[in-house]
Amino acid sequence: MKVGVINIALANPRGFCAGVERAIIIVEEALKKYGAPIYVRNEVVHNKYVINDLKQKGAIFVDDLHTIPSGSHIIFSAHGVSKAVRKSADKLHLIPIDATCPLVTKVHNEVNRFYEGQYHIFMIGHKGHPEAEGTMGQIEKNSPEASIHLIESIDDVEKLPNIDTDKISYVSQTTLSVDDTSIIIDALKSKFPNIKSPKNSDICYATQNRQDAVKGMLGNQDLIFVVGSNNSSNSSRLAEIAKQHNIEAILIDDMKFFDPSILKNKKNIGITAGASAPEILVQQLIVEINKYSDTVVSEIKGVEESVIFKLPII
Ligand code: SF4
Repeated sequence: MKVGVINIALANPRGFCAGVERAIIIVEEALKKYGAPIYVRNEVVHNKYVINDLKQKGAIFVDDLHTIPSGSHIIFSAHGVSKAVRKSADKLHLIPIDATCPLVTKVHNEVNRFYEGQYHIFMIGHKGHPEAEGTMGQIEKNSPEASIHLIESIDDVEKLPNIDTDKISYVSQTTLSVDDTSIIIDALKSKFPNIKSPKNSDICYATQNRQDAVKGMLGNQDLIFVVGSNNSSNSSRLAEIAKQHNIEAILIDDMKFFDPSILKNKKNIGITAGASAPEILVQQLIVEINKYSDTVVSEIKGVEESVIFKLPII
């Protein structure tokens, strides 16, 4: 028997960003043009549903380029890759197709420009995340004149030695928390008053808009579901925002793991989705909630996104 009525508020914007849509289309177009299998380095975007769907269509996701037969096409993920990975693909006679999001490429270009100008660069990002690895890997060798270093927290800034040059700059991963990053940037600016900033924030429009949308819905919700995978940086940040405001938040990317007991005594539920999560999962979640309780679903108005990225020649 259903229990009461639950109001569901859907955040806007939510779900796929232009970079993720482009990366998925690139894999699908490559499959159409060259046939299966098509090799993809790492997960092309961080979402289990998307990855399983592409696997069924004939994509093979690999961590190690050496496992790919020579002469095959290799797609680089939306998170971007280091120069070493590009060189390794070349050495192994693989044919690259680049699905790096243009907004990640923009950060790579900034890093390369700063390095050529002999700057010491601080990259604000998460250790081990493929985007941070790809961006750090734009610099192949640190030297006394120019270098790149990862900064993950304000503690890392405090531990930095004083550097005897004004040629210091910073960049950031595109999917970080806007608020946490701005605290780290302020700390960097106070330690190095002449530090050079990127021309525009490196945190991308999709990350910013989805975080703003969650902040906008916090006041009314007993619980927020973030549709997205654990390894998705921007999805995890959305859940963090809710938790920082003492609202229970659950990251979910497979309705097999949906536990209806969480709905007990909840009247108002917010749903959002990370930039790599497809809308179908949001709709599946609503169906699950509706099995437990009658629902009234409303869309919260938000920024309309119109960003589209050109596809590369495949
Ligand atoms: Fe590009 Fe931002 Fe989407 Fe990442 S989250 S793929 S940087 S648009």
